[in-house]
Amino acid sequence: MSFESLGLSPELLRASAAAGFASPTPIQLGAIPPALRGADLLGRAQTGSGKTAAYALPLLQHLQDSKPGPRRTRALVLVPTRELAAQVGEVIRSLAQHLPQRPKVNVVFGGVSINPQMMSLRGGAEVVVATPGRLLDLVDHNALKLGAVSLLVLDEADRLLDLGFADELNRVLALLPGQRQNLFFSATFPAAVQGLASALLREPVRVEVDDTPDTLPAIVQRVIEVDAGKRTQLLRHLVKANGWQRALVFVATKYAASTVAEKLYKAGVYATPFHGDLSQGARQQVLQEFRDERWEVVVTTDLAARGIDIAQLPVVVNYDLPRSPADYVHRIGRTGRAGETGLAISFVSAGTAAHFALIEK
Ligand code: AMP
Repeated sequence: MSFESLGLSPELLRASAAAGFASPTPIQLGAIPPALRGADLLGRAQTGSGKTAAYALPLLQHLQDSKPGPRRTRALVLVPTRELAAQVGEVIRSLAQHLPQRPKVNVVFGGVSINPQMMSLRGGAEVVVATPGRLLDLVDHNALKLGAVSLLVLDEADRLLDLGFADELNRVLALLPGQRQNLFFSATFPAAVQGLASALLREPVRVEVDDTPDTLPAIVQRVIEVDAGKRTQLLRHLVKANGWQRALVFVATKYAASTVAEKLYKAGVYATPFHGDLSQGARQQVLQEFRDERWEVVVTTDLAARGIDIAQLPVVVNYDLPRSPADYVHRIGRTGRAGETGLAISFVSAGTAAHFALIEK
């Protein structure tokens, strides 16, 4: 199947070709035609499946097809994290580049000053990509009105709920017109996500893509049994003995990220924390320095388990075990990307052995 058969405008086909998309991915094949018809969509897809374009293309076609009028926010994309917001904004802008009436695309997220975002929203924006909390702040500041939104995208809905955005989401939904199209994407469907989907969607078309990629990434998974109190020592030993240049280490809390990074640093390992309390600028800087091999170890919460692509990340360590098998898969998926081999090591102690057995199952 080709992109040409999906029903997209020539301008959007041109932009897809320019982005290097030769043929649609399975999620795009399944999602784009019903979304173009105006149907609600329930998509199960992971990062890496091409899901962003699967909703961005119909979203842009929707704008292209609607009558010209004053600039109002007509498409709203809600995402869980700042990084994803920035990525999605870029994808939408790049796919919109050949449209005769290029929409204004604004990306808004918390953790940075609100003033520039308010300035940038002056005069309106057809497309807003947002994390829910900052979106509501902007609405409260009268910087943005949602009364003309006719298309809503929820991306990584499971993550939105995991990160505690349920109340904000409900507040946003209450501000939207009832008459609209909803495109709903999630990698997993626990009960809370299903509840949200059934409250939101009207006779949705379901699109599911197989979780297993064509080429399984080559990830070697290992477990090391260790006393909980000796994990930092063990980690230091592993870094030094194996000469790891770049290891991503997962812990359960922001506090642990800071303390483990500090202990490692004092023990002679170049380690730094990465979590949601850092400013956007600081987070970008940590990622860049990690890529540049300024840091041997980045200690992070599950914030980094999704969405962030650090090419050639050879090692992932579960210092604290993830809560769910899905989180385990996302965490270890940070390594062994794009055909490289990766190593995932989990520290298991007497207290966590039973939980690990569950994940293993
Ligand atoms: P996503 O799952 O949206 O994060 O996309 C993952 C990656 O796949 C991104 O780098 C996209 O640019 C790329 N991509 C999306 N659609 C296609 C396609 N049809 N052909 C090739 N690459 C694609």
